[in-house]
Amino acid sequence: MNLIDSNLHRGLNNESQRNSQFLRPSNPNHDCTMAKAPLTIPPLSEKDKERFFSKIDKDGPLPDQSNPYYIGLGKCHVWAAGKFPGGYGCFHFQGIMRGAHRVAWVIATGEDPGVYQVQHECDNPTCVNPAHLSIGTVKDNSQHMVKCGRSAKGDKNGKYTKPECTPRGDKHGSRTKPESRPRGEKHYSFTNPEKLARGERNGAYTKPESRARGKRNGAYTKPECVLRGEAHYRAKLNWEKVVAIRADSRKLQEIATDYSVAKQTIWAIVHFKTWARP
Ligand SMILES: [Zn+2]
Repeated sequence: MNLIDSNLHRGLNNESQRNSQFLRPSNPNHDCTMAKAPLTIPPLSEKDKERFFSKIDKDGPLPDQSNPYYIGLGKCHVWAAGKFPGGYGCFHFQGIMRGAHRVAWVIATGEDPGVYQVQHECDNPTCVNPAHLSIGTVKDNSQHMVKCGRSAKGDKNGKYTKPECTPRGDKHGSRTKPESRPRGEKHYSFTNPEKLARGERNGAYTKPESRARGKRNGAYTKPECVLRGEAHYRAKLNWEKVVAIRADSRKLQEIATDYSVAKQTIWAIVHFKTWARP
């Protein structure tokens, strides 16, 4: 995702905000080249199109074929001219610098992407191959990232790749700046006790109707939404095992060890506190 596109999306809600606030980042070091690029892209003249195509290398790299999501995608068409800092190609026409991939979309489809993002199916920001481009919202783009395994999950997370950036132990804020964490008598529950809705001022007393209790609770009104028994994603047991456990005459601890669960779990099953009905 690039800067222009993120600004575009936010612009969906309030156009005047988009123009005044979001397109002028308050941080002077922040690169706002893309952020200032306009939303709409007018149709290109034949001359501009010719100039655009002269900047493309159609013999680009093939997207990683070991990733099932990229199989079937042909070679990328690499932008051989100037690029924005994020790696997106930039193309100058009618006096304004524009994202090359967005221009490629306009040339290929004749549609102006407007407030929507032009996304890369190949995840190569320099690519302008129209077959690799699609249009969507910021949400679509993020979901695409997760699907392709590009999100910072597991080993790719900053906690692993840059552990020095996660302050732990003596470097943690609670040690380096203890004064910024009001604790004990400095805590606001002591300094401003009137702000805490306790006892009879609690919402449970003042607005009991806003609490879905008893028969109005979701567990009653939408029982299908509550995952129980085998359907629960953390279930270690199933009905077959539960029947076997109930028929087992050994000590609870021995059964528990067999099934890698706690003794209390076996007790609850045997006493029909859990897994009461199929
Ligand atoms: Zn591509």
